[in-house]
Amino acid sequence: MTTTPVPEAQLPATGIHRPAYGHFIGGRWADGASDERITLLNPADNSVLATVPSGTAADVEQAIDAAQRAFPSWAATSPSQRQAVLYELAQRLRKRAADFALLDTLNHGPTITETSGFFVPLAIEQFELFSGAAWMHTGSTRVSGERLGLVHREPLGVCAQIIPWNAPLLMFAAKVAPALAAGNTVVVKPSEIASLSVLAFLDEVSDVLPPGTVNVVNGYGPAVGEPLVTDPRVRKVAFTGSRATARTLIGYAAANIIPQTMELGGKSANIVCADADLDAAAEGAAMCVVANKGEFCLAGSRVFVHDEVLDEFLDKFTGVLGRIKVGDPTDRATGLGPLASRAQLKKVTGYLELGQAEGARLVCGGTVATVDGFASGNFVEPTVFADVDNTMRIAQEEIFGPVSTVQRWTDEDDLIARANASEYGLAGGVWTSDLRRAHRIAGRLDTGTVYINQYYNFMENMPIGGYKQSGFGREFSHEVLEHYTQTKAVIVNLREGPLGMFG
Ligand code: NAD
Repeated sequence: MTTTPVPEAQLPATGIHRPAYGHFIGGRWADGASDERITLLNPADNSVLATVPSGTAADVEQAIDAAQRAFPSWAATSPSQRQAVLYELAQRLRKRAADFALLDTLNHGPTITETSGFFVPLAIEQFELFSGAAWMHTGSTRVSGERLGLVHREPLGVCAQIIPWNAPLLMFAAKVAPALAAGNTVVVKPSEIASLSVLAFLDEVSDVLPPGTVNVVNGYGPAVGEPLVTDPRVRKVAFTGSRATARTLIGYAAANIIPQTMELGGKSANIVCADADLDAAAEGAAMCVVANKGEFCLAGSRVFVHDEVLDEFLDKFTGVLGRIKVGDPTDRATGLGPLASRAQLKKVTGYLELGQAEGARLVCGGTVATVDGFASGNFVEPTVFADVDNTMRIAQEEIFGPVSTVQRWTDEDDLIARANASEYGLAGGVWTSDLRRAHRIAGRLDTGTVYINQYYNFMENMPIGGYKQSGFGREFSHEVLEHYTQTKAVIVNLREGPLGMFG
């Protein structure tokens, strides 16, 4: 396998990231066709971390050229060759795990405890999982009389992958690893808000990736996304992000009728039964508020609490939140970092006002947080609204911030009806000591994931994906290989001679 080293002049001088990046095309850094640059900010103080070029259709064209050139030889590699590359990506990530954790913390605000203990380990796991999965990418055989059927799984070609800002490196790993394992090449468009960890990782692994297998074009959604997804050489689009963007992308994908996977938002029900361990449930609900600042697609942000235990639960819930320190995300004592952007801060504070205007009862938080030494940061107090009606906008819309809504329930059928009365269907949680009840409720929830007695109970090789408007397709598990391959049926006649149909 040949590799192209990154030119010396473009390597980082000091520190763990460079002040400026290009696009990564054909194994090299490229400046891009436009002089316009985008600044990547640190949301803790809104200082500039680095700049990236604002991608254009011309940059996309070059990236697709590179991916297209790389495809035949990458598709022809053996499973062991693909495994070697993917495993080395995992090793490089592991070797500098602390650096990459810090980069995600700096660029979009999750605490260092979260990035080093959760996001980066999960990203490593994706490369490890799919290094093994390169061997599992097998077809099947069928026999019927004198016919032998061979079902092959073949790679698709060049895949477009568009990822959001709320977990850049993990999203990158979860998209790129299975695509490469299945023999595809990719053009990735990271978010214009947060991509520092992805770009620094490419510096780290540029000698590992065969040129053109992984290409990255920075920039704004429509400017990069439309030429990328509508190019006839692109054979698939995989997207993680909002519903609004998904609708646009599905339109682009219609141009050449290419397959799509859409990992979208959520407004997940987190159900506390009267027989639940309330300390555990309160801790789990608090995690849903603060984990990744609530900017977590899976967050259980609609909490349904049985009437009998509501007051006790609310005391415990607000008690846990009251102990969480809001502040500098690089400090290990911090439990809640800044929202990823000013735009996100504006959106979330708008919902804080809306909740009160809609008549919900503010139990805690409800305002921006002031943090010593970080006056310009995007901090919000962890917020809980009680006495929420499921039809309120704060109960229906994805706030994507540290905000929880609490509803009361008594009757299980009514509970299920309300829990399912959402356009989303990504995840759900159930807290009870009765396993029959847990399975019954889990079975009745219209969601792609249900966590029983621990929210965010991530388990290796378990599929993540949505029902309803939370999208379609599954990632994070071997099922995703189905989305990155197409089936070819080859049928062999084992009988000799002509059929004798025409005398
Ligand atoms: P977004 O839809 O605004 O942006 C996501 C990506 O799409 C970005 O790279 C953006 O530049 C790009 N984009 C925007 N317009 C585009 C266009 N016209 N063509 C092509 N690309 C375009 O979403 P976001 O605000 O970055 O992310 C937050 C959303 O992502 C939330 O809804 C969240 O729930 C969802 N999310 C879902 C999952 C999941 O696995 N289900 C995981 C993480 C985030």
